[in-house]
Amino acid sequence: MYNQEIINKLTEIGFVYDVENPELIISVGGDGTMLNAVRNNLFRIDQVKFLGINTGKLGFYTEFLPSEIDKMVEFLKNKDYRECHFNLLEYTLINDQEQYTSYALNEIAITNPIHTQIIDVYINDIHFETFRGTGFLISTPSGSTAYNKSLQGSVVHPEVKSFQLTEIASINNRVFKTISSPLVLPKYHFVSLVSKNYENIFIVADGEREHLENIHTIKVTLSQKVAIFLTKKEDDFWIRVKKAFIE
Ligand code: NAP
Ligand code: MN
Repeated sequence: MYNQEIINKLTEIGFVYDVENPELIISVGGDGTMLNAVRNNLFRIDQVKFLGINTGKLGFYTEFLPSEIDKMVEFLKNKDYRECHFNLLEYTLINDQEQYTSYALNEIAITNPIHTQIIDVYINDIHFETFRGTGFLISTPSGSTAYNKSLQGSVVHPEVKSFQLTEIASINNRVFKTISSPLVLPKYHFVSLVSKNYENIFIVADGEREHLENIHTIKVTLSQKVAIFLTKKEDDFWIRVKKAFIE
């Protein structure tokens, strides 16, 4: 709806509309649209920057409203921005034949909607606990305000280079025990979630399901890869959190 207007106005100030080799990707929608934009551009994540226009959703990752397109054009023309670097999560799905690695901006969710999922949790290859329950969420700092927050995970500033492991409905009783609290791990640490039976598991990264069969291990760490967002100079993470959740 706003796309042609944006293209016209940016072309007027010397930008070139290049779908093949973009340097800037403008997402028009909400966070879901931005998550898709990042996902579709993972193969060239080092070459692109992202900017979001929020068309009425929560828009945690977005910077401008549709009524502010002229303001956005000025912002780009005058390079009146900062670059925010959001580390991605790196996850590897492993079965007996192969392994597959990809990246997520918000999180990876591992859930079994049918049976109690038994998962052995290893931190840096050391066995930590045996989990029984629905599953786990592993999130980045920039994703900590999304699904992670609904699970009572901590809100983590993106400059705290870390990732968070949060339980989804663990069973804790006389026989079974888990740590119960969300864990915040530093970069370079890695979590391995190992199970003999991931048969009915849903592995969902940023709202998109993964489909590798017969997985026995899911290995996750904080990636050195970043998604670069253009933000207003005065942008502040805590003000963003306040606007999204308190005001
Ligand atoms: P969605 O169901 O529309 O997303 C749920 C809400 O999360 C939307 O309001 C979305 O913002 C917001 N959101 C996404 N990333 C955020 C972030 N980093 N900080 C704060 N809020 C954020 O689905 P979607 O738009 O495709 O987004 C996928 C995301 O939904 C997943 O990555 C996951 O984090 C989240 N999710 C949450 C739950 C839950 O809380 N129970 C369950 C499943 C998925 P917009 O309104 O701008 O889209
Ligand atoms: Mn959405």
